[in-house]
Amino acid sequence: MTDKITALYCRLSNDDDLQGESNSITNQKAMLTDYAKRNGFRNIEIYVDDGWSGTNFDRPDFKRMISDMEKGKIGTIITKDLSRLGRDYLTTGQYIEMIFPDYDVRYIAVNDNVDTQNSENEMMIFRNVFNDFYARDCSKKVKAVFKAKGLSGKPLSPKPPYGYKKSETDKNLWEIDEESAAVVKRIFKMCIEGYGPSKIARILTDERVLIPSAYAEEKGIFKRNAYRSPTFWNGTTVAKMLEKPEYAGHTANFKTYRKSYKHKKRMEAPKEDWLIVENTHPAIISQHDFDLVQELRKHKKRPQKCKTVNIFSGIVYCADCGKPMHLTRKGSLPEKSEYLKCGTYSKDSRECSAHYIRTCALKELLLNEINKLLGYVHNDRKKFIDMLAKQTNEVHNNEIKAAKKTIAKSEKRIAELDKLFSKLYEDNVSGKVSDERFEKLSAGYEAEQKQLKSTIAELTSFIEAKEQKSNDINRFVEIVSKYEHLTDITPEQIHELIERIEIHAPDKSSGHRQQKVDIYFRFRVSAASAVLDKHTQNK
Ligand SMILES: [Zn+2]
Repeated sequence: MTDKITALYCRLSNDDDLQGESNSITNQKAMLTDYAKRNGFRNIEIYVDDGWSGTNFDRPDFKRMISDMEKGKIGTIITKDLSRLGRDYLTTGQYIEMIFPDYDVRYIAVNDNVDTQNSENEMMIFRNVFNDFYARDCSKKVKAVFKAKGLSGKPLSPKPPYGYKKSETDKNLWEIDEESAAVVKRIFKMCIEGYGPSKIARILTDERVLIPSAYAEEKGIFKRNAYRSPTFWNGTTVAKMLEKPEYAGHTANFKTYRKSYKHKKRMEAPKEDWLIVENTHPAIISQHDFDLVQELRKHKKRPQKCKTVNIFSGIVYCADCGKPMHLTRKGSLPEKSEYLKCGTYSKDSRECSAHYIRTCALKELLLNEINKLLGYVHNDRKKFIDMLAKQTNEVHNNEIKAAKKTIAKSEKRIAELDKLFSKLYEDNVSGKVSDERFEKLSAGYEAEQKQLKSTIAELTSFIEAKEQKSNDINRFVEIVSKYEHLTDITPEQIHELIERIEIHAPDKSSGHRQQKVDIYFRFRVSAASAVLDKHTQNK
């Protein structure tokens, strides 16, 4: 350890509505001194801003500390938590990620588990910081940044994706590039028709369509990465295109991040962390088709050996084991000889039974059920909607009520735990509770809080999903209204209308083969059960 100063920074203001002693300056001082001692930090200097708000950095002792830092005097800065350093998270983030490292200053926020010496943590802070502002939407600064860029339709990424070009009048805006947009449209269409990314890539390669990099180069847009062949498409490229919200007209920011200031390379951020700014530029793909593709892509299937496209792919499941049914073909006759069988049974015949069902029989049954539904909708649309709403609401309302109750309870307990923790901490400082006991009890509190927080997160998304339901009913009716009566069905229509089909094992107790099929319509707004009878099947 050097002889540089360990700066303990304390701050308190009226806007810190954290009551009680635990946040008082005396307490912050005691806690930080104790922490520094226990962890071997020497040459301690305490900086105090009492009565100064955290929303800006214009504070006398903060400025004194920064000036000491700039003179190279400080080795480490420690605060009780991030908000003691500042409540303007953007600037706080800048200090932590950029300014402190520039002066080789290590920063620790004791209660937030932040220590810049540990690079894993740094990433966490930044994420927490960002999460925090999107959640609370409190930083004017960030809002301003996004108003200027993302929100006004100016994407943060300088290169428009394949399918778009920069507008000639304002190079911050994207316009549709008709030629490449046509290829994007085809890729989405093929996906909806049941083709996987590698199959789509093969088709484009066969047709000698220019890959995005080669296209960009040909148009003199910019030079991209090196490529193998100008017309060799690979499945990954196609798969990535299918996931781009840009094609539905939205801008996705923060798709990459830097692990820390030490790392120049940008990492791919998980999808949940993307910030999607809606309707920033013209869409190539309708929202409906884009959502459909995302849903289809959830059931990423393995490449099929035979060339036939399974129009039921990702939709038909075994009612007993829940696994997808696989398409199989007997002999050389097409269609008539195609059937589906349980995926588990295909692997190990002892684990489940075959659940054989011929695809043409299933298709016929499906047409029948769909036409029945179309009949209801066209007969009395309002009655149909009311019926669906009634069915779903009765069950859901009770579930939502119960979930909301649990959330409220959990939130109350979290607050209680916070209080318990502060109390415990004070008892520890005053010597009433031993360090060992403190560690043990605080770990217990923390674990419980973590558990409660994850319960709240789960229930919140559960409620959102349920509340989504009434929108879904309207969307479904809108889709259904497009059709009058179907005589044949395309894969696109199947995916548009149906979410899941479950095939039951055949029942021969009546003397002939009967097989029950459950059909769950899209968004699960409605379900039907039909029986496939051998007699009718062989008519
Ligand atoms: Zn099965």
